[in-house]
Amino acid sequence: GKWVYTFGDGKAEGKAELKELLGGKGANLAEMANLGLPVPPGFTITTSVCAVFYAHDKSYPKELKPQVEKALQYVAKITGKVFGDAANPLLVSVRSGARASMPGMMDTVLNLGLNDKTVEAMAALSGDRRFAYDSYRRFITMYSDVVLGFAHHHFEDILDTFKDGRGYSLDTDLTGDDWVEVVGKYKTAVARETGKDFPQDPYEQLWGAIGAVFSSWMNARAVTYRSLHNIPESWGTAVNVQAMVFGNLGETSATGVAFTRNPSTGESRLYGEFLINAQGEDVVAGIRTPQDLTEAARKESGSDKPSMETAMPESFKELTRIYRLLEKHYRDMQDMEFTVEDGKLWMLQTRSGKRTARAALRIAVELANEGLISRKDAVVRIDPASLDQLLHPTIDPSAQRDVVATGLPASPGAAAGEIVFSSEEATKLQAGGRKVILVRIETSPEDIHGMHAAEGILTTRGGMTSHAAVVARGMGKPCVSGCGSIRVDYGRGTMAVGDRTFKVGDVITIDGSLGEVLAGQMSMIEPELSGEFGTLMGWADEIRKLGIRVNGDTSADARTAVRFGAEGIGLCRTEHMFFEETRIRTVREMILAEDEQARRAALSKLLPMQRADFVELFEIMKGLPVTIRLLDPPLHEFLPHTQAEIEEVARAMNTDPRKLADRARNLAEFNPMLGFRGCRLAIVYPEIAEMQARAIFEAAIEAEKRTGKAVAVEVMVPLIATKAEFDLVKTRIDMTAQSVTRETGGKPAYQVGTMIELPRACLAAGEIAETAEFFSFGTNDLTQTTFGISRDDAASFLGAYIAKGILEIDPFISIDRGGVGELVKIGVARGRKTRPNLKVGICGEHGGDPVSVAFCHEIGLNYVSCSPYRVPIARLAAAHAAL
Ligand code: PEP
Ligand code: MG
Repeated sequence: GKWVYTFGDGKAEGKAELKELLGGKGANLAEMANLGLPVPPGFTITTSVCAVFYAHDKSYPKELKPQVEKALQYVAKITGKVFGDAANPLLVSVRSGARASMPGMMDTVLNLGLNDKTVEAMAALSGDRRFAYDSYRRFITMYSDVVLGFAHHHFEDILDTFKDGRGYSLDTDLTGDDWVEVVGKYKTAVARETGKDFPQDPYEQLWGAIGAVFSSWMNARAVTYRSLHNIPESWGTAVNVQAMVFGNLGETSATGVAFTRNPSTGESRLYGEFLINAQGEDVVAGIRTPQDLTEAARKESGSDKPSMETAMPESFKELTRIYRLLEKHYRDMQDMEFTVEDGKLWMLQTRSGKRTARAALRIAVELANEGLISRKDAVVRIDPASLDQLLHPTIDPSAQRDVVATGLPASPGAAAGEIVFSSEEATKLQAGGRKVILVRIETSPEDIHGMHAAEGILTTRGGMTSHAAVVARGMGKPCVSGCGSIRVDYGRGTMAVGDRTFKVGDVITIDGSLGEVLAGQMSMIEPELSGEFGTLMGWADEIRKLGIRVNGDTSADARTAVRFGAEGIGLCRTEHMFFEETRIRTVREMILAEDEQARRAALSKLLPMQRADFVELFEIMKGLPVTIRLLDPPLHEFLPHTQAEIEEVARAMNTDPRKLADRARNLAEFNPMLGFRGCRLAIVYPEIAEMQARAIFEAAIEAEKRTGKAVAVEVMVPLIATKAEFDLVKTRIDMTAQSVTRETGGKPAYQVGTMIELPRACLAAGEIAETAEFFSFGTNDLTQTTFGISRDDAASFLGAYIAKGILEIDPFISIDRGGVGELVKIGVARGRKTRPNLKVGICGEHGGDPVSVAFCHEIGLNYVSCSPYRVPIARLAAAHAAL
């Protein structure tokens, strides 16, 4: 087989389409080489080798060795340098490169090929002994860490001791001779700790590094990253071996990172950072503060260090030419790494850039407007779930801001929480339901757990492309990075700025859009939906077939939903109106009433309140359909709990508190979810359904009078199992409508339908549809009753089910196609067989889950209904489903 693909000198054996085989980095290096761009020559060892490696006890296919040697000769020919040569040595980098980008998760070795002989050759060739030995010590450090398992900090200790002895404070204070001495100490330490001399044979070095990169596919942080991002383990990584170019060869050399558009805002302008006289990892590691690329950006940042545009005009021009070409070629925003070696620009990587949801929208819309992609492409490119990031609150601009410090606006949005200084602490507190801000000097790939758990991330070091910034943007979490005025003391658990000190547990707010750190919990406001948001949503609406409604019970819900583009209310849970604090006492009077007369007395007090609620909803929805569900939850949820509450209700009802307590005890149930709830309430106490129906119809008439618009009301009966149940309740509703018409002369237009949320109702749907005018699948209860898993008690064991692979995902989050989905399909088919134009929707939580929305589209539902903040997600998911 072919295990190795070369690239360089204007051609390559691979190409972008071979991403599965070559990994993202390898495929794009090949593509850039084919485009004639300046790429240091090299070769990619395929992901298939990784599969062989793990299938055969970490060994390689036998053809690999000769293929690697041949590829090295190819690189030698292009560069005119020879691996291991004492006069003109070839040095290489060895990097991982999986199919999906996994930034910083796996290992890299730079400057490979250096040894005691070749380092002297490098010194002679560059005329810079300091450079040569600095490179050698970096290589020893990285190689020992990655391949020999001898940790970084040992070398840092040696270097610190050395610097202290000489009275140096910076690494740049060391001379060439100093580095020679330090390298000697490093090698001694390696020999002492590993029992073997540091390898001098470049081939031994190379195979060591290749093995380490393949092994890093299974390191703990890579495994975690994959599970968080659903990347299959079977994909494996490729290994890229590439001729070194040096950004640390003096003032005419540099290294940097560039985006073709701003990854935070999406603005179409070259964006990024570079460092003069530095090697690649220096920019990402955030050890020195990088410089701006463009003069415009430098002016905005107010930096006193020159931009690349002024410091290296020729290379900048070349970078500008290349970035435009790459963006056109890939038809997407690119994230590039480059190095300038002694005035010559080299491209080390390009890939489609990670971006915030806001940037993704703007970029997709602008690319479509620029004609680079179609509107459909633009819609497809936005991940529905990512819209969540745009719909989240920012700090109320009118709030008093106690700004403690300002860093870089690394990832937009605002978040507040308790300060924690470690990822372990973040994970622990979050599991206990607390909100935390993770504060670190800088983050490393080991911190991804903690970053996930935190509401937001604050670092005191590192730029816009530091680990914290890149990862936070990917996660959609607010992040302030490089906040240098804050001093963090991990030992004491404090952070200090000026004369203020904050300790673990103190609450702060971070504003990732401005880079500010604020004391205390700030008040937040709803987001302004930007122009691109509206545009893209409009394009999505043209594509989708499913209707989108909202689950909403309050006027606030309804307003938000209309703003987000909901086309009606799919579920108004009327019990939420009963729970309201000032009403609960009347509700309790109703439940605890001893006879119908007393119950009617209480109900008549509730009637005007319900009616007023409905009038408001109808007015806000302006003629869009509103589905109102009759009272559903088990009665015991409304019962008084404390002695004080019982006495209060007793006083109001003029009865003995002890009698009342008895009655409350009698209503208690062993299994309330399967108890006295849903339509069973309306069956036993029809006067409750009557009151609600009356409130609905009177409100509809009232709202029509006020707005002049017809109200489209759908009355919905919950939790039915049989047609007989439905018919009993429907009769009451129809009778009430007739009474209201008789009394008022108004004639409300309405339909009566049912929720389908029990397996029996799915099976009996054909019969039920004879009288039910619409169906709405309550997939929360349907999941509960299909699995026999209590929706309120599932958390304690569902985790284990998912960990053991029994269930792929929590069936309360994403619909279980194989069971619940089948029942829904049966319900739809049987219902429509009886009533061909039966309107069918879904109003369980699944209505806002993109994967479940796709299912609803497939089986031909009319609409999905979801919580207000999920409406845009559902709109976009429905468009994706239709493409
Ligand atoms: C359902 O069961 O899916 C539903 C929407 O009703 P509720 O969540 O109120 O039980
Ligand atoms: Mg339900």
